[in-house]
Amino acid sequence: MNLFEETRFVMNKYKVHAKKSLGQNFLIDDDVVDEIIENSEISKENLVIEIGPGLGTLTKRLLDSAGKVIAIELDESVLEILNDRFKLYNNFELINQDVLKVDLNSLINSNLNDSIKKCKIVANLPYYITTPIITKLLKENLNLDSITVMVQKEVANRLTAIPGMDKDIGAISYYIYYYSDAKIVLDVPRGCFIPSPDVDSSVINLKLLKEPRVKFDDTEFLFKVIKIAFSQKRKTLLNSLINNGLCSSKKELEDILSSLNINVKVRPEELSLQDFANISKKIKP
Ligand code: SAM
Repeated sequence: MNLFEETRFVMNKYKVHAKKSLGQNFLIDDDVVDEIIENSEISKENLVIEIGPGLGTLTKRLLDSAGKVIAIELDESVLEILNDRFKLYNNFELINQDVLKVDLNSLINSNLNDSIKKCKIVANLPYYITTPIITKLLKENLNLDSITVMVQKEVANRLTAIPGMDKDIGAISYYIYYYSDAKIVLDVPRGCFIPSPDVDSSVINLKLLKEPRVKFDDTEFLFKVIKIAFSQKRKTLLNSLINNGLCSSKKELEDILSSLNINVKVRPEELSLQDFANISKKIKP
């Protein structure tokens, strides 16, 4: 049975339908699964956290490669499938919760030990919450080695964009660049899922850096400045920071930008991560 037939068989047997509201598009292409497993470089020394196992397509392969797999799934209706499929695996744990509400820090730290040393995230993400999930994974200072996830193709371009060099960027591009080396490893056409989504997808791989890419002691403030700058992307950086009370005097901010050799009319997407760090240092209360 190939993956398409297997998926149909499981859906019929358990009478489940894909729920659009939960972003359920099940992977049915064996080659894509192979590529995800290969690019995530999993070994028995790894704890893998899978977000949204669905029917367990990726989970099965992860269980064969990893020391332990913790799958976090919100949809109660697939729990029976997952528990049935993986009851013989003693390295499988299933958590029925919204991933955004899980205390990942405690979960990871309580599962790492002398034999399972590194944690990796692997997932075919529910697209409706891609950005909140990735933001959570990065901002909570988790003890993570890498993140390999399927996302919408357009979003993948933005997530792997290099600030200051690429055009299509948002605040999230800076968070990712701050914490990791990110790249697209595979493009995945919409036909590789059932039901087939309206967009194509890509798998991205983020390798977490040992130290953040720029030195700045107050990450929260740096990210606040970036977020505010991008909240009104059509406005100049100067107007956004003034309008949001991050700097009270226009003249003072103009002087700061000039002292950093930054044009006072600059738009946020023209700035590098280091530029944002330099500005943040100067305007921090
Ligand atoms: N991994 C499966 C695959 O590749 O075929 C399913 C991937 S599907 C794109 C996304 C999965 O995430 C679904 O199983 C969905 O129920 C689950 N999900 C949606 N929102 C979630 C949330 N907030 N927390 C955890 N899982 C969620």
